[in-house]
This record gives sequence, structure tokens and C-alpha cells, in this order.
Amino acid sequence: MTRFESKIVGIDLGTTNTVISYYDEIGKRGECCVNQEGTNLLPSAVYFEDSETYTVGSIARDGALLYPDNTAMFFKRKMGVSKEAITVDGKTFSPEQLSALVIKEAVESAYEELEEEITDAVITVPAYFNSDARQATIEAGRMAGLKVRAILDEPVAAVYHCDLMNNLEDKMLLVVDLGGGTFDIVAVAISETEINEIAINGDIHLGGSDWDLAFVNYIKETYLKGKTLQLDDEEALLLGAERAKKAFSKKEKTKINISTKQGRVPLELTRDEFDRCTAHLLERVRAVIQELMLDLFDKGISEFDKIIMVGGATRMTQIEQLLRRLFPDTEIVAKDQDEAVAKGAAVYAKMLSGTSKEKMLSIKQSFRPKHLNRVSTRSYGLAALMGENGERKICNMIFRSEELPVSKKKYFFTSCENQKQVNLRVYETTSKERYVDIHPDALLGNCVLEISDDLPKGADIEVTFILNEDGILSLEGREPKSGKTVKITMESKALLESDEVMMQKGDIDKLKKVY
Ligand code: AMP
Repeated sequence: MTRFESKIVGIDLGTTNTVISYYDEIGKRGECCVNQEGTNLLPSAVYFEDSETYTVGSIARDGALLYPDNTAMFFKRKMGVSKEAITVDGKTFSPEQLSALVIKEAVESAYEELEEEITDAVITVPAYFNSDARQATIEAGRMAGLKVRAILDEPVAAVYHCDLMNNLEDKMLLVVDLGGGTFDIVAVAISETEINEIAINGDIHLGGSDWDLAFVNYIKETYLKGKTLQLDDEEALLLGAERAKKAFSKKEKTKINISTKQGRVPLELTRDEFDRCTAHLLERVRAVIQELMLDLFDKGISEFDKIIMVGGATRMTQIEQLLRRLFPDTEIVAKDQDEAVAKGAAVYAKMLSGTSKEKMLSIKQSFRPKHLNRVSTRSYGLAALMGENGERKICNMIFRSEELPVSKKKYFFTSCENQKQVNLRVYETTSKERYVDIHPDALLGNCVLEISDDLPKGADIEVTFILNEDGILSLEGREPKSGKTVKITMESKALLESDEVMMQKGDIDKLKKVY
């Protein structure tokens, strides 16, 4: 038996770091691969020397402040939102291409360690990623030359790992995942055969790097008034602030030296200062948790058996303190914070690889895959007029945290006599209210239903929303009198066309890696 039989790796494609892992047949668990830099964490940063030459990892990240125009970081936040992440010497790279370069690097190191060709992967995403960002992640995997077998929510991946390590059967869990760039929380119920998502909330613009920036601002305002910092001083300050933040996870005080044009400034900083200047960020964490608790309250759930913390930034003491204040009687587990997601993805990959009957039998003895039941990460609704001459608002039909798949039907009405067509405009929001103000950015797509032109004002228009298990939304509009229908599946403006994907893959395949 080889250590790596399933041939599918798990990839935690993080905002700050990427980790690749495999299911270890001998250890019977997910294991991380060591990268070229000798660690498990590969910084998700790409530096372009010019438009044809690049490097990935710590070298790219460490030079980010010195070469900001040539360094791409935090591009995960642009997945499914924008087609452009960086332009170097007139050549533009998409977030998918940059992610693909990071994935390629990770796969290369896994190949060196496992000495096996890697063709397939399970890639994790924040649970709070919308369908566009998920699709963009699949495209990134494809551009890296992989078959993406599944996209798995990061906190759920962590549950697969933790369940394998300590049987969590019949437990209700809260997974709190605060990484470098995103924050996710998921409530899950585990049974002998299933992992059931119950509710999801999150903020894809909140992560450890926001704590670093807030601390840098505080240091500048409090200790560096009247001092000038050059670019490399700024870079050193950011790295120093992050180092101090990490030190505060174990110590009350720490020292850093800051270079300025006027000379060195030695500082002794305290955790108390750090906590004070980042209190607004902790408040955002609290608000997301409380919103989730309201969703859970609607489902009759008010407590958990365990809280699992994952993501490097949950090491900040303020996170655990907050959770202890909110859930004083619940056990909090913090193990494998950096690796649990990738290791869980490898466990899930193993589950997908067991196809032949013979293989399934041998797997069953040591490995019992659990089926995953997901919930919706967003609410979906249609723009409609609120009564006579009323305001136009989004009327939500499917709500965040509803079990998938879900189908909802609702009747809307024509707004004038002899109307010839109805414009069905679909919006995706995070709100759980029935009626929401329209924001143009929330528009997911639209279609037109042609109807017979002899209908009175207020005639019925039947609209059905279907959200499938992968979170893909389709819509059907029907005018019952004539039976005329229109059907569409929502696709985003920010996603690449399939020939664009192949072209972009060709472009990155031509790039030369240096260092
Ligand atoms: P991840 O995306 O899970 O790799 O998490 C990366 C984030 O975790 C970065 O913002 C790190 O600065 C932060 N982090 C890592 N170790 C620690 C630590 N010991 N204390 C506080 N934050 C940490």
C-alpha cells in the first residue's frame, strides 16, 4: 500500500496562505505536504518580475511593500467579483490566474513529496463565498491543470478532519474560522452518517490582516507622529505589527524596533493596547456570531456541544475570550488551526475516490464517509413594486441558511393593462428580511417573460426559484393563462467564458517561474 492511494489532494486555497494535503492510508488521516520553503503554509502571493516571469510564496509576500505594483496578494477577495487582479507591463492577470499559479506551486511540492502524479483536487472556499466566487475557484483549479472534484466549505472541511480525529457523532458544533482575510461561522449537526449544515454566516472582508493594519495605524498615530517612514520602513512596520500580534497570543507585552528616516524608535507594546485599537474588528466578529444565533433561534437551537476554532487568527486571545463570554458553558477546541481545513479536504477527497465496490468495502472498515447536507449562504429575491405606485424593492423568496436543495414559488402581478412582457430581475443579498432595498451590485441576473398583451393590470405571474445542492440558482417565470414560460440559470457578469478560461490557462502556462 502506498501512503497516497486516493490520488485526489485537498487544497486550502487561503487568502494569506495555501496548504495542500493528502489522505494518508497508513496514518488514516489527512496529512499536509511540506512545500519548497520547508513549511506547510505557502503564502498566497505572486510577484511578477515582468509580464513573463513570476515567483510564488514568501519571496513574493516579503517584497510586497517594496514592489507593490508587481505583487499580487489577497486576490481571493476578488474571486467571482472582478476579472482583473493585477496589471504588469500592460498585461492583466485575473484572480483565477493568480490562484492557479499558487495552486500549481502547491501541487508541485506535493508531487515531489508523494512522487505521484496529481490530477484531481478538492478545493476549499469560505462557507460564505457566493456561487460566483465558488465557480471562479473551480476555474482556478482548471487553469492549474486539475480536475476539481468538489468545492468544500472551509469550516465543514475542518469538521471532517476533527470528526475523524475525535468521533463527534451526535454533536452540535459551532465552527469559528478566522483566517488571514475571511471570517466564517457555521453551525453543524453530526450524525453517524451525515454532516448537516444548520446555519452559516460570515464576512469575506474580515481577517487577521485587518488586525495588522489597525495596529499599524495605532502605532503610527500614537508613537510615530512627526516621523517619516520610507517604503521599506513601512514594510518592516507591517511585519513587526504582525509579529507583535502573534506574540500577544502568548504574552502580555512585546518589543519592536521601528526604523524611520529620523532613526530607530524602540517600543514596548502591550496586548491591552492591541485589544483596544482592534475593538471595532472584534465587534464585527461578535455581530456576525449574534446574527447567526438569531438564525439558529428560529430553528430552535440555542446551544452547542463544542466550539471548534480554526484559522490562524483565532489564536488571538480576544477571540477565545469573546467566545467564552458568549458561550460560557461550551467546550472550546483549538487544534490544528492552520491545517485542519486542508486535512479535512483530503478526508473528503478520500471519500470521493472510493468508487469501486471492492474499494468501498475496504474503506468501510477504517473510513466511514459522511454525506454532507448544505444550507444556502445567501438570500435570493425578485425586484417588485410594493403596492400601488409603491417603491420597487427586492422581495426575497429563498433565505440564507435554508436547507438545500430548495424550491419556492410565489405569485407576482402585472403592473399595467395590456403589458407585453415582464422583466424578472434576480438579486442575491445577505439579508434575511422579506423586503430589502435594491442595491445595483446585488443584481445576479435577469430575464424577460413575454406574455399575451390582453391581460388586465394585476394579472398573475408565477415565479419559481430553485437553488440546487451546489448553490446554483435557476428561475422559472410563467404566465398561467397562456402557459408562456421562461427559464434561466443564473450566471455572473464577473465569470469568465469557457474560451476565456482556456486562453488564460494558455497565458499562465507560458509564464516562466524564477527562484
Ligand atoms: P490562515 O489564513 O488560517 O493561514 O491565517 C492567517 C492569519 O492568522 C494571519 O493574519 C496571521 O497573522 C494570523 N496568525 C497566525 N498565527 C497567529 C498567532 N499566533 N496569533 C495571532 N494571529 C496569528
